[in-house]
Amino acid sequence: MSRDLLVATKNKKKLEEIKQILKGLKLRIRSLSDYPKVPRIIENGKTFKANAAKKALTIARFTGQLTLGEDSGLCVYALGGRPGVYSSRFAGKGKSDKKNNEKLLCLLGKAPLKRRKAYYACAVALANGNGLISTVEGRCSGAIAYEPKGSFGFGYDPVFIPPKFKKTFAQLEPSIKHSMSHRFRALTKAKRIIQKYIERHQGN
Ligand code: IMP
Repeated sequence: MSRDLLVATKNKKKLEEIKQILKGLKLRIRSLSDYPKVPRIIENGKTFKANAAKKALTIARFTGQLTLGEDSGLCVYALGGRPGVYSSRFAGKGKSDKKNNEKLLCLLGKAPLKRRKAYYACAVALANGNGLISTVEGRCSGAIAYEPKGSFGFGYDPVFIPPKFKKTFAQLEPSIKHSMSHRFRALTKAKRIIQKYIERHQGN
């Protein structure tokens, strides 16, 4: 068995978070930056799980490597779950995180805190050249702030206030986010599955 785990992303910030959380696994973590010729993946699934599975399967079939696909986003109850799977392109294709946050804050206006409840969701899928191995999910609940604050993290972190805090994820030490995030929760489950996979395939 190859000692590589290929993470099907080009997002450097996400990759760093994923590497942090998967620390300790006896695998070398690679990303799509190491595989420039892989096919482009069209994220057209209706759920985070469907998109994560598509990423993992497409890349695993192409490379034959054990591959981790991740899909995540923000769901706001008062907006019927939006932006959801459209989180990265909420303000339009190619628009920035700043524009996405502006659109979100504009839609919520001055709504009171109880109408600003939201959660981050993350789906993680594992696949190899033979097909899908497993899919898991993690969530982190919170509320949407009235204005963007802080500079840590990425995406909606400047407007996302996790439970029991009065600051946004972008204002809090990254270690706090990493100990409770949707990605941490999904990847902790995935880590156990990868560990078992390594044990089962040892010596192959
Ligand atoms: P993906 O790359 O298609 O999974 O897009 C995920 C999008 O969801 C990102 O571009 C962000 O807008 C948002 N998102 C997901 N996870 C986080 C997070 O941990 N912090 C902030 N925004 C996130």
